[in-house]
Amino acid sequence: MEGYDIIKHKSPAFYDSFERKDELQNQTHYCPGCGHGVGHKLIAEALTDLGLQDRTVLVSPVGCSVFAYYYFDVGNVQVAHGRAPAAATALRRSNPESIVISYQGDGDLAAIGTAEIIHAANRGENITVIFMNNAIYGMTGGQMAPTTLVNQTSTTSPYGRNPQNEGFPLHMCELLSSLEAPVYIERVSLGDPKNIMKAQRAVKKALTLQSQKAGFTFIEILSPCPTIWKKDPIEARKWVSEVLMKTFPVGVYREKKLELPECKHAPQKTVAECIGATQGVEKTTGHRHHTRDISIKIAGFGGQGVLLLGQIIAEMGMRESMEVSWLPAYGPEMRSGSANCSVTLAHDRIGTPLITRPEVLVAMNEPSLRKFADTVAPGGVILYNRDRLPEDFSISHARVLCVPASAMADTLGSAKVANVVMLGALLEETECLPSESAIAVLESTVKNPKILELDKQAIKAGRDFVDNQVRVGAVPGPDGYAY
Ligand code: SF4
Repeated sequence: MEGYDIIKHKSPAFYDSFERKDELQNQTHYCPGCGHGVGHKLIAEALTDLGLQDRTVLVSPVGCSVFAYYYFDVGNVQVAHGRAPAAATALRRSNPESIVISYQGDGDLAAIGTAEIIHAANRGENITVIFMNNAIYGMTGGQMAPTTLVNQTSTTSPYGRNPQNEGFPLHMCELLSSLEAPVYIERVSLGDPKNIMKAQRAVKKALTLQSQKAGFTFIEILSPCPTIWKKDPIEARKWVSEVLMKTFPVGVYREKKLELPECKHAPQKTVAECIGATQGVEKTTGHRHHTRDISIKIAGFGGQGVLLLGQIIAEMGMRESMEVSWLPAYGPEMRSGSANCSVTLAHDRIGTPLITRPEVLVAMNEPSLRKFADTVAPGGVILYNRDRLPEDFSISHARVLCVPASAMADTLGSAKVANVVMLGALLEETECLPSESAIAVLESTVKNPKILELDKQAIKAGRDFVDNQVRVGAVPGPDGYAY
């Protein structure tokens, strides 16, 4: 796909192997007696039993289980704190045949990631969330978690959790089971072998349901953290059964088939049709002749009309019934700081507004040329706002057109129309859109007749420059385009 880098290699952040000290070769990186190892085993066993390994992607969280990707021979993604359900949503939606597991701890899921989990559950995403609840922040040394029990001490609640100050422990199964969409929610425990067997069945059931595309499944696993609880592994397991399970009762909180109500489906319309941008614009196949898919990066100083130029191109695309995206990026300095925007025009739906390999770069100043020239796709075009390139600059993989747009705008009578001169040059060079569209957009947005006239002259000046100064000898056709 144009405009994107498709990365097919392993992230350098993932080492080939997880090297351990000699004495640790035969154990996990988790503390002795930690529940994560058991949790991993339950998932791995279920995937193997169900034959799902080859189409599974595990989303690892931030927390003690941040290295989960070293334990599962499946697709792995490591995400920012709390964001696992959002990443899992994207993974599952973009590959509906995959099995996606979001593996999260209590800090990750129930504190910083509360919004993600609630909305993923509420949308009924076809993912399985394994929620390891040990009622404390383990990796960072024992701070109070959202699930910390009343009166339980932590480094940030040394006298115990006080509901008057810190609120009550969050009960995620109960909270999520108040939503319509989830199909299966169960809380299980790793306190003793009998409960571990139940946990095994629950994990397997959730993954079975996901493989049947049943909907959102959620398993909360009450898990020992002997190190932070300052207990030995046996005491810690006992504490799970005798204390943790009292606050967090195990059991099935939701088990139902999702009944979706009859709903009207939105008509498939382009954005332009939805907002009425096509009204009054003649839709003829003649125009389509001059529309083509393209990705454009426009960059320069703030105040040079960089973002506006992107907006004009995007609106032109809408008026031509194309799919468009416009993504601005600028620093806090709104004037004289750097600004850039990415514009994509396509006849099919656009996957992302991000452009890593623009087909065209419009560089309104030298820093932008130097910053973005290397990103232009091989065979692409750079339109540079000067009459020549800097002496120490060269580029071989893209064609550069020096268009002194600012100087030409000055000659026309206003430096402000340099971006419109560049628009004319871009349209002439790429033939991605008809210049009649640009005129139509300007006529509907520019109220001052004098400025509108200047804009029209600027478009013509940009087109003529490319036609006469760059494409020497090209003959314009009756429609004004040179082929
Ligand atoms: S700190 Fe607690 S949760 Fe983390 S690895 Fe150790 S026992 Fe497990």
